[in-house]
Amino acid sequence: MSCRHLAAIASGLGETAFTVDASRVTFGRGALAEVGDRARALGMRRVALITDRRVRALPWFAEVAHALAAAAIDVAIFDEVAIEPTELAFDAAARFAREARVDGYVSLGGGSVIDTCKAANLFATYPAALRTYVNAPVGDGLPIPGPLAPHLACPTTSGTGSEVTGIAIFDWTTLHAKTGIASPRLRPTEAIVDPRTTSTLPGEVVAASGLDVLCHALESFTARAYTTRAAATPPTSRPASQGANPWSDLGCREAMRLAGSYLVRAVRDATDAEAREQIMWAATLAGIAFGNAGVHAPHAMAYAIAGRVRDYRPTGYPDAPLVPHGMAVALGAPAVFRAFGRFRDDRHLEAATLLGADTRGAAVADGGELLATRVVELMRAVAMPNGLAGVGYGAPDLDALVDGTLPQRRLLANAPCEVDAACARALFASAMVYW
Ligand SMILES: [Zn+2]
Repeated sequence: MSCRHLAAIASGLGETAFTVDASRVTFGRGALAEVGDRARALGMRRVALITDRRVRALPWFAEVAHALAAAAIDVAIFDEVAIEPTELAFDAAARFAREARVDGYVSLGGGSVIDTCKAANLFATYPAALRTYVNAPVGDGLPIPGPLAPHLACPTTSGTGSEVTGIAIFDWTTLHAKTGIASPRLRPTEAIVDPRTTSTLPGEVVAASGLDVLCHALESFTARAYTTRAAATPPTSRPASQGANPWSDLGCREAMRLAGSYLVRAVRDATDAEAREQIMWAATLAGIAFGNAGVHAPHAMAYAIAGRVRDYRPTGYPDAPLVPHGMAVALGAPAVFRAFGRFRDDRHLEAATLLGADTRGAAVADGGELLATRVVELMRAVAMPNGLAGVGYGAPDLDALVDGTLPQRRLLANAPCEVDAACARALFASAMVYW
């Protein structure tokens, strides 16, 4: 394997502090009923309620609309969010928000809905060409000039953690690039997390989004240590992807423990309210953690894996070629942990233990190998495809997969080692088949 140790920082120039950013979170069964009062308390009088058609037909939508009406708040509904939003979807939502003259935002749905709402808020507040705020090198990566309108985010899937992060991901179709906008200003003002919403999710969706949760925790926990980065100048420019730190470690450890205990139960039985609630809590914790540490190689690889799909159609999702985000992340993860374990062995070993791996009788105390093995066990238990070959990729695709990964510099720079083209190629090659 050709992945190399991180370059050393000249002495005295390393980072010595980390910053904690977190939005207010209200978590619990029935929490959606608080949306109206909370919107009112934030000064909202007329809100854009952003959702998708599937969620609009569910009882959760009626509950939120009722709570807003009871608080005497005007509502303009936008329900055209697509799964895996594109630049056109961001643009349509922003135009809608501008024309509706709203003073606040409520999003109800999965990560695609919440991300689209963040973009609508941004571009309605500070109109600009799309590329202005998009991460470099794909976009210009300019800072967002000031605060946005208040945004209450209500997730209905237990996965992306978008309700507590300042990241909005989209598919820039004209550039064939999956990219995003990252800024603390995009972070929703409050998250309202009601675990009842997960009772209407198909098991396949809980499986993919639950593995996304698990990878948020695993990647944040095994990311480079924040002290191995060059110090931010000015310090206010310290990125959200600042590396593993004592705050993110707290959320990661508990999220890993919960995922190890409850993921398989939550996937197999939609009526197991305890398991689904615990995975929703794990998603919130992992979201807060990765919003303050950053994920790394599995997420960078996932953009290429999802973006170059040909004809794989997963059950439980709309009938179209698609590798769901959480599945795309999980497919690369064991290969990464196996290869990167030697760069942070103690952390990989601890993660494997928290996930419930039996490490006592292990022939070798190789943290990366033990963690990879445990993640593969969980993937099999929730019926994930067997590696990249399981979603239609083979050796001839390696160059394209590497090319789609290397531009994800924000993510790759957060890995515990240097990731160049040869390293990425070796990772994809060993992710083809796992069992
Ligand atoms: Zn993710």
